[in-house]
Amino acid sequence: MSGIKPARRWQPAFYPFKREKFGRRVLAKTELCIKGPLFGCRMCGNCLLQETAFICPMECPKGMRNGPCGGVTPEKNCYVDETRKCVWYSIYKRALKTGREEILLEVLPPLDWDKVGTETWGDVVRQIRKTGTGKFIGGIFSKDKIKKTEIWNSVFKTIRQPNWWQGDADYHPAANSEPVSDLERRLRKGEFIIATEVTPPLGIQTGKLIRDIDLVKPYVTAINFTDNSSARSRMSSIACCNVALSAKAQPVFQIAARDTTRSGLQSTVIGLNSMGIYNVLCVSGDSPKVGPAPAGNMNFIDLDSVQMLWILRRMRDEGIYLDGRKMKENPKLFLGAATSPFASDPVLQAIKDHKKVNAGAQFFQTNLIFEPERLDLWLEQLYKRNLLNKVFIIIGLAPLKSYKIAQYLHSKIPGVSLPESILKRMEKAGESAPEEGVQIALELIDSIKGKQGVNGIHIMTLGWESIVPRIVTEAGLV
Ligand code: SF4
Repeated sequence: MSGIKPARRWQPAFYPFKREKFGRRVLAKTELCIKGPLFGCRMCGNCLLQETAFICPMECPKGMRNGPCGGVTPEKNCYVDETRKCVWYSIYKRALKTGREEILLEVLPPLDWDKVGTETWGDVVRQIRKTGTGKFIGGIFSKDKIKKTEIWNSVFKTIRQPNWWQGDADYHPAANSEPVSDLERRLRKGEFIIATEVTPPLGIQTGKLIRDIDLVKPYVTAINFTDNSSARSRMSSIACCNVALSAKAQPVFQIAARDTTRSGLQSTVIGLNSMGIYNVLCVSGDSPKVGPAPAGNMNFIDLDSVQMLWILRRMRDEGIYLDGRKMKENPKLFLGAATSPFASDPVLQAIKDHKKVNAGAQFFQTNLIFEPERLDLWLEQLYKRNLLNKVFIIIGLAPLKSYKIAQYLHSKIPGVSLPESILKRMEKAGESAPEEGVQIALELIDSIKGKQGVNGIHIMTLGWESIVPRIVTEAGLV
């Protein structure tokens, strides 16, 4: 348990991947002895504590360095280990309390693993010397807020934003003036779009996949293919997207940070572009905790979804790889992100969503929504942040086929909750549960489609693809 921070440390501290000099080893040990109990430091060697309200984000089991995932429980605990607070929720709360929430908008880099396990105090001292020790001390005690921030940033921003990253807290509109996909074109034109998803097959046969694509294609603008949702292996999203292209449907490629490395992300996207796939939805991915046994690595991931957006946006707009190499041609990308409007307090959720828009998200697909009235609170927060004209919002809905599915979604899926009234309706419906599920979906669409800032509906079929034509038709959205 740490001293002044509110959550306990998740994993042990890192060791360096190389033999360090004796002096640096002593400094690293001293740093861990002090920063560990105080801030929950894991010695990542890429310190961000000044920007994360002095709580180490490396305690997050998903390695999220840019804000919470969508899995915070209603008690604000971490869904991977419900016995402790979500570390990002604690960071947000403290930042709000101290008036430092806007600092949380700066897009923070992934780890430089060469530094992992090593001390950072040496970097700070070197940077202070560069700035001038007297100037630094004078600056941090200055009453002039601007001067103070400048001096602070001259040391700490240089450390946390290396040249290969250059993250900031600004909005970067896409450089391309023409849409790169039909989905983007329709959204830009102001059409209310319908998207859906077709479940990737469990085996190598694509017959059912093609039939499902053909079935839903006339009713929707785009079809998503999930990337091992619930941490369960299926056919890859890239293979399904390719099948969809052959079937003349427009795919949305989903990529989960859980299974993605920085080199894998960049090469995959180049490959996608060569096939003609331009819509990319970046998600964190469910923890292996919710997947089947034996559980995969719950300790750490190389990238988070915000970092994926930032890397892809820079590839598209600046034509550079993460390591700074110039690309021969910039990829064409319409970038999306997932969001979970009810995962935490709407004010806090909007901070994370703001950061995703800054990083490069052009459209949002929300988690499943069963309480349209709660949606207003979240939309209002996005409006206050002037985001509704910067990002297209597509609301996730699911037709419930049975009471069992309703219960499963409510109790097992992070960030999803069903109101008592819907659960009761599904229970009471008995054998007519599928019909009741359709009626609930139609009512939800009816109350959502007119909301300001909503640009479309995403029907998550949960394997019930055959219901899509009926829902779209009866909702009057054909
Ligand atoms: S709920 Fe998500 S963001 Fe929060 S600590 Fe757990 S994995 Fe990390």
